[in-house]
Amino acid sequence: MRLLLIENSKTIVSLIQVQLAEMINVPVDWASTKEQAISLIETNGIENYCLAVSGLKIPGADDGSIVATITEYQIPTIIFSSNYSEELRNKFIQMPGVVDYVLKESQASLHYLCNIIYRLIVNRGIKALVVDDSRTMRMYVCELLRQHQFKVLEASSGEEALNILQENRDIKLVVTDFNMEGMNGFDLTKKIRETYDKDELAIIGLSGMNTATLSARFIKTGANDFLRKPFEPEEFFCRITQNMELIEKTKKLLDMATKDFLTGLYNRRFFFEKGSKKVTRLLAQKKPGYVAMLDIDHFKSVNDTYGHDVGDEVLRKISSILLQKIRPCDLVARMGGEEFCIIFEEADKDTAQNLLENMRRGIEECIIPSLQDRRHVTSSFGAVPIQTGEKLDLAVKRADELLYRSKQTGRNRLTIEEFN
Ligand code: GH3
Ligand code: MG
Ligand code: MG
Repeated sequence: MRLLLIENSKTIVSLIQVQLAEMINVPVDWASTKEQAISLIETNGIENYCLAVSGLKIPGADDGSIVATITEYQIPTIIFSSNYSEELRNKFIQMPGVVDYVLKESQASLHYLCNIIYRLIVNRGIKALVVDDSRTMRMYVCELLRQHQFKVLEASSGEEALNILQENRDIKLVVTDFNMEGMNGFDLTKKIRETYDKDELAIIGLSGMNTATLSARFIKTGANDFLRKPFEPEEFFCRITQNMELIEKTKKLLDMATKDFLTGLYNRRFFFEKGSKKVTRLLAQKKPGYVAMLDIDHFKSVNDTYGHDVGDEVLRKISSILLQKIRPCDLVARMGGEEFCIIFEEADKDTAQNLLENMRRGIEECIIPSLQDRRHVTSSFGAVPIQTGEKLDLAVKRADELLYRSKQTGRNRLTIEEFN
């Protein structure tokens, strides 16, 4: 997917490119005349352009006719121009295919432009569902969302909306009317919230009813936001954008909160959160499971001899070995420093022992070039069966005691306890 930039100032082009590169990885094709723009589109293919940004005064088309040319190719277009009057703006913003009109005047407008480019490209991957029993209104809202590049689905009732949600688990935005035959907007919102949190899927309520309390009630029911009909497209997009940004930021935070930055493995906190549920389920189903601790041998001397960076490389390498050797149902985490913990689900002693021996050998046999003539590291293990009624932190503590025994009896070995 490429971006077409039709602009006669090279300085502006580089400013946009630099700012955009910090936000998103999209190739930018620059045309400074109408002819160049057309030639680029014909050479690279219309389908390869997700978006165009165009000025109004371009050699070969200094009357703004360039915009009609580009939108005829069905490429959504943002106008970025220093010419501005309400009249001019209204004329262009009404043209099909024109997404926005940004006044070229300051650093802030450049920033706004890059932001909207970023949004439009990201929106292409987001599924939105519009729910309204009025066909006219539904089509209008769908069209607005399509203009902003969302993948749009539509439903004419709450019941139909729930079916569509069932089949499209990746929907991130629902725009729903309040007043509908059968299930109304409140009931639909409540139903959706049984499955999706506010920070996974945004719900925007719409209503033409002039009741002051409606917006508060919508939000208390679980909607992220509310708009009264009729609304300005600009206000609509502001609300949508804000809510999508919130969802994206929450997802990023969640990743940061559950994963270890260096190795990408789950962190200690997530291990206990997720692992405790795993253990409870295993015990309820009367299935066997094992908890294992692992610690790299003489790791301090790796740091001391080869430096901290090589130490980090070793940690990443060992993490990838552990990930390769576990089964999809197992859970592995970095507990801190050079210690890792694993929960083996549905594993008896032989299964756990085989998996762990396989890891121990995998680590021992892995030659790490940065370790020079030392060549490799080894690691020690302790493992215990999960006992009935036992909390995860206790099992981890017992595994750690057996790990200590492995260290004392020579390292590079596994000490494992029998099921009793
Ligand atoms: P043992 O065989 O008894 O486990 O000895 P050891 O040297 O591995 O154990 P010790 O606990 O003395 O040292 C652990 C070292 O791990 C000390 C610390 O500097 C290092 N370490 C902890 N976290 C990191 C990290 O994120 N990166 C690097 N490079 N080193 C780390
Ligand atoms: Mg160690
Ligand atoms: Mg240690």
